[in-house]
Amino acid sequence: MARAQFSRSFTQQPPIPEAGIEAAVAVMRSGRLHRYNVVGDEPSEVMALERDYARWQGAAYCLAVASGGQAMQIALRASGVLPGDLVLTNGFTLAPVPGAIAALGARPVLVEITPDLVIDLDDLAAKARSSGARYLLLSHMRGHLCDMHRLVQMAADLNLTVIEDCAHTMGASWNGKRSGGFGLAGCFSTQTYKHINSGEGGLLTSDDAAFMARATILSGSYMLYDRHGAGPAPEVYDLIRLETPNTSARMDNLRAALLRPQLRALPDSILAWNMRHDLVADRLARAPAIHLPRRPAAESYVGSSIQFCLPGIMQADAATFVARLAAVGVEVKWFGASQPVGFTSDHHSWRYVAQQDLPATDAILAGLFDMRLPLTFSLEDCALLADHILDAVDALGEKGRA
Ligand SMILES: *Cc1c(COP(=O)(O)O)cnc(C)c1O
Repeated sequence: MARAQFSRSFTQQPPIPEAGIEAAVAVMRSGRLHRYNVVGDEPSEVMALERDYARWQGAAYCLAVASGGQAMQIALRASGVLPGDLVLTNGFTLAPVPGAIAALGARPVLVEITPDLVIDLDDLAAKARSSGARYLLLSHMRGHLCDMHRLVQMAADLNLTVIEDCAHTMGASWNGKRSGGFGLAGCFSTQTYKHINSGEGGLLTSDDAAFMARATILSGSYMLYDRHGAGPAPEVYDLIRLETPNTSARMDNLRAALLRPQLRALPDSILAWNMRHDLVADRLARAPAIHLPRRPAAESYVGSSIQFCLPGIMQADAATFVARLAAVGVEVKWFGASQPVGFTSDHHSWRYVAQQDLPATDAILAGLFDMRLPLTFSLEDCALLADHILDAVDALGEKGRA
């Protein structure tokens, strides 16, 4: 059964909408690229984006910044994390998450994940108690939400300040509430491979006025905080404006111009992603050897990528599996490789973090595979992808059936 080679690129995003290109050209024609370079009362593109995003998110405040990583660093700092403080975070996430903690001179305490790829809430409670950490940078890695109802209760019981990393959950929700609204702050990325694309960029949301005032000064507002689209009232700044350092991590008008039409189209993008994701998931579910992370009824997700496990697969077989798929043009990532390739999500490769024992996470990552599903793939492309994966699982034979 010779199946067609897969020939699409896993890193090709759709073009920027024409409205975004036109708005970006208008910004360039004006020469006013800096977010605070405005004429009269006219709102800058960044101000307008902050307003649009606060409304979309249902948050009181929104701050546009230079990257998702900067949103996390600023959020941690504005929430009071000091050098040496312990910050709980997922043992499985992308490097900018422990990186944001390390950038403050704080120390990550890594928490195990479950086979559904979310933070293990029992391990979280145990480590919060044993370490005494008071902050949690909760990463919704690969778009999977933990039981957010239980998490909020636990955070209150354990006196934890929660900051959400929503790089993969822009547009996702739990029981109808948007991801990013469960703790003190939500951090979003607009980097090319996330849900809206400005090359680099980030958004920070919160309902806490004093927090957002500190974050705004940290982001590099000089004393121009009145030129923010969705910021707290000027008097909130009185106490903190001279005490908060400037770390220059602003967004510019060009990027905001690219993002605003994409935000308007995000509901349609989410539908398109989920059609692709669910089609692949339904096909993969046919293979008994494959474990798909569960999607609880309370979770509404954005399927911009898909994860699947081959529990118990041997290292050599996993490498063969990935190579077999690569040979037919299917780019599957494997989180169990001994060296990081193209991304760093294995805690063993974060050498700036004190080594920690995470046997449950390690066992899951050993058999965990991941595939991006860019919107440039058609549904036919997705069906072909899934069939290639089923072929490769079949080729593992008995070994694939642990
Ligand atoms: C991409 C990503 C980030 C940070 O985004 P940048 O904008 O690239 O700094 C944070 N967390 C996760 C899980 C990510 O994948």
